[in-house]
Amino acid sequence: MRSRAFDRREFLLLSAAAVASAAVPAGLAAAESAPAGAVTDAKAGWAGYDKALVIDALGSPGGSGTGANDAPLSAAELADLHASGVTAVNLTVGSVGGGPDVFPDTFERIGFWEREIDTHPDFLMKVKSAADLDRAKASGRLGIIYGFQDATPLGEDVNRVKIFSRFGVRIIQLTYNRRNLLGDGCLEPANAGLSRFGQQVVEAMNAQGLLIDLSHCGHRTTVDGITSSKQPVAITHAGCAALTDLPRNKTDEELRLLAKRGGVVGIYLMPFLRSHGQPTSADLIRHVEHAVDVCGEDHVGIGSDGVVSRIELTPEFVKRHREDIANRRRLGISAPGEEEDVYTFLPDLNGPRKLETLAGMLLARGHSESRVTKILGGNFARLFREVWRAV
Ligand SMILES: [Zn+2]
Repeated sequence: MRSRAFDRREFLLLSAAAVASAAVPAGLAAAESAPAGAVTDAKAGWAGYDKALVIDALGSPGGSGTGANDAPLSAAELADLHASGVTAVNLTVGSVGGGPDVFPDTFERIGFWEREIDTHPDFLMKVKSAADLDRAKASGRLGIIYGFQDATPLGEDVNRVKIFSRFGVRIIQLTYNRRNLLGDGCLEPANAGLSRFGQQVVEAMNAQGLLIDLSHCGHRTTVDGITSSKQPVAITHAGCAALTDLPRNKTDEELRLLAKRGGVVGIYLMPFLRSHGQPTSADLIRHVEHAVDVCGEDHVGIGSDGVVSRIELTPEFVKRHREDIANRRRLGISAPGEEEDVYTFLPDLNGPRKLETLAGMLLARGHSESRVTKILGGNFARLFREVWRAV
């Protein structure tokens, strides 16, 4: 099976994250309990949003329209980037899965984004260092951080870590859902940990100052990745298994260990936030609050796994989503929790300003402005500064 199929689905996952009505679920109407000075209307958002570093630890600026991963950004998508107030996004440029196509396909995708960034210098900039985050913020452009969601583009050659670093890759997830040469993904029943090669890649990434991502990794690979890295690591997009026991979510043990070593977990806006049915902002907030309880407020962020623009639930979108789920099941990469009638976005957090809306909701529930600033991007910015120092 060709990696292209993985690419496409992964892109669709990335492309499908936001949603419809602006209604706040009844369960979230906690404005009465908000402390003095906090935003009392969650829909009003947050006055501090435009000053904050807003980081989406996994997402994409495109893909709200056709779902094609080779479609250049449209004028509407570009306008949404300016409107979004998002400072930077970890964008997947690496192919997922095995096979001989993974290496050339990855460079093809890097080439695609290089052209997009060059074509739209007023909207986009490549983020290669922590200082670039500040430049993106000051200039109102979206910072693009190149990342992988599978280490298979490395092949069997640890020196490729250095090569991809030269091309701007700053984050590499050690495995996707299945097993690769580094370790087991979260769908592997054997639950093997990091291999010898996996250990070598961790060492090479530490030496290069690249951020290790363990989002899709199995339990043992996750624990091994955290403990064997000399630098703090990330789980850029996941949920909490204590709330929803699915393979893509992380146990309290994993989260506690991650935080103890200085890492950050990004909570996603994905179906895995609940076992059945379409999740909403209420589910996201449950997971964010649980992660803060377990990790502390310095170790939680957001990795939407979605797009900046608003997703319209058109018949074409529904059809494509169903085909996509069927295809992933055929390929054996569909994780439990992926369903034909559950969409990869939250219906009440849809559109370019969804993270501002989320901030308003968190403030309305009594979380402090300083905590919300950290969750929206401050924590990931701190982690990037710490790990990318060696770049
Ligand atoms: Zn992912």
